Amino acid sequence: MNVYTPYAQILRDRGFAGIRVRKVALNGGFTCPNLDGSKGRGGCTYCDNRSFSPVAGSRSVPILNQLDQGISYFKVKCRTERFIAYFQTFSGTYASIPRLRDLYLQAMSHPEVVGISISTRPDCINAEVVDLLEELGKKFFLTLELGLQSSFDETLHRVNRLHTFDDFARAMDLCSGRGFDLCVHVILGLPGESSGHYRHTASSLNQWSYHSVKIHPLHVVKGTVLASQHARGEYNPLECGEYIEGLVDFLERVPASVGVQRFTADAPPEMLVAPQWCRDKAGVLNAMKKEFQRRGSRQGFLV
Ligand code: SF4
Repeated sequence: MNVYTPYAQILRDRGFAGIRVRKVALNGGFTCPNLDGSKGRGGCTYCDNRSFSPVAGSRSVPILNQLDQGISYFKVKCRTERFIAYFQTFSGTYASIPRLRDLYLQAMSHPEVVGISISTRPDCINAEVVDLLEELGKKFFLTLELGLQSSFDETLHRVNRLHTFDDFARAMDLCSGRGFDLCVHVILGLPGESSGHYRHTASSLNQWSYHSVKIHPLHVVKGTVLASQHARGEYNPLECGEYIEGLVDFLERVPASVGVQRFTADAPPEMLVAPQWCRDKAGVLNAMKKEFQRRGSRQGFLV
């Protein structure tokens, strides 16, 4: 028996059994309220969006062309058969409703795209956006990915997220039961946090039903505020062993029905300052499995 639920299992349940499905990161030309001045201009202290989606296209390239490029790449590299259009850069619901509808429908018009996934901030969700997602979610497979990072407002303030846990709770309340999938994105190793914080964040999610989770260690990327703090010795990333313990603590509190989309970071080597171990996906996966086995537990063991 698997000690965690791979996201592939969720995709199988959604009708993609036996089909290789891969996300293609897209640049929808969005910005973010924490960058354009409506909430702030500095962004989160760790933010360099190029490191989150290094393979996403340029905002000047039409969505269908970005999809063609990404699909050609993955067909050769991974022999993938079908694709999810992934609006990953910045805040993927931060635009007018007509523009969002047009972008999402353009992506879905591609013959090899079987669904869309949209990454956004909790404060970029409102009733009109949710109505649109519900309408589109009746036509195709749609996942909304909400960035929480931590359930602690003091942590969110420390990394300049400029939203609160209440914002996230409001977004989850609005989105719950509306017919599309929900993914929650969290980061372990945020400044000032330790295992007790991770356990609390994981448990706080269980007041809602959600379908997948993305977890990764906070990693330092060149040119960010966090990189300056790291250079001054004000921030030290987690050691691999600390992360594995925190990750397993977290997943023990995540229901087994939730698929794990990510369990480590994905920064390009030329941009990553530290920790270098976070790029070793196989190593992190093995260490996570071993820690579950050592504890005699599994995902959802403490829900
Ligand atoms: S919310 Fe995302 S895009 Fe906006 S500043 Fe933070 S990390 Fe960057």
